[in-house]
Amino acid sequence: MDHMAEHNTGLDRPAELEKAVNAAPPRGVPRPLFVAVTALAVALALACGLLAFSFACQRHGYAVQLGMVLDTQSAAQERSDRLERELNRTKGELAQRETELAQAQGTIDVLKEYSIAAPDGAVPEYTQLYPDFCAPAWEGEAVTGGKVCCLTFDDGPSANTDRVLEILDRYGVKATFFVVGSSSTSAASQERMKKIVAAGHAIGMHSWSHDYKKVYASVDAFLEEFNSLYQWIYQVTGVYPSVYRFPGGSLNGYDRGVYQEIIAEMTRRGFAYYDWNASAQDATVRPRPAWEIAADCLRGVGRELVVVLCHDSAARSTTVDALPAVIQGYQNAGYTFSALHPGVEQVTFGYPKIK
Ligand SMILES: [Zn+2]
Repeated sequence: MDHMAEHNTGLDRPAELEKAVNAAPPRGVPRPLFVAVTALAVALALACGLLAFSFACQRHGYAVQLGMVLDTQSAAQERSDRLERELNRTKGELAQRETELAQAQGTIDVLKEYSIAAPDGAVPEYTQLYPDFCAPAWEGEAVTGGKVCCLTFDDGPSANTDRVLEILDRYGVKATFFVVGSSSTSAASQERMKKIVAAGHAIGMHSWSHDYKKVYASVDAFLEEFNSLYQWIYQVTGVYPSVYRFPGGSLNGYDRGVYQEIIAEMTRRGFAYYDWNASAQDATVRPRPAWEIAADCLRGVGRELVVVLCHDSAARSTTVDALPAVIQGYQNAGYTFSALHPGVEQVTFGYPKIK
């Protein structure tokens, strides 16, 4: 009994021991290990969840931050573009102001150089001569370039004028005739002057006598020559001229002592003078062949504004022969033709500076 009792109270009996070992824990009763593992798993899951949440939040934050950075970048780019545009505009304005300043300085220099007033402010007496000798008011478009060719014919009218007019008319081209008073008194010359005006060409002044010694003897002499021609042109054609050309060009061997005063006084009276930047080179003792003359006239191709010097005197018939080739040459190079008027930018020689 004792032995049984002993066995009944312990687990050392093999059957009881096996049963105790193999028996599953009763349902609903957690073992401590199980509880610990489960708790650990839950804690781990929670940690993972928190980590994932925080990561997602962080990622969102980065995305927001990136978006902000991109926004800031594009705003900065826009601002930079705008500033660059403003800078370019300012640069353009600055360049324009500089050009205007240079032009203004140029005008001041010209006024200083050609001022007709003496240092004490006294105005020369020739300003009182021929008060009606003033260019007529002119309103129209300015011509400063854009491939414009101005053909000019000096020393006429002559027997060649009719043929020159016929060729100009054939090509629909307007030109300028700088006539000489002493060449224009005959009835035939007067008719030609009328034809020049009627065809829409410009008639300009080239002195009465074309005698350098007379014309450039003094400012007074120059004014007398040109006033006579001015009145004569009006008497014959009914039109007052507004442009003129110096015999021999504005700077020649005869007018060095007076050309500045002449330019100042004629400018004061509203007249515009034109030298040339292409020449027929036809003022030669023996007439040159037409093709040579045409080639020389066409040397102005490439300039924005060309003033071609030709002569319209009786001895210059090869100049007339060259004319169709000259006109076609300029037309083929894309030029249009214009008569001279005060709106056309002056083409003049370069002058030595006064020391
Ligand atoms: Zn001449």
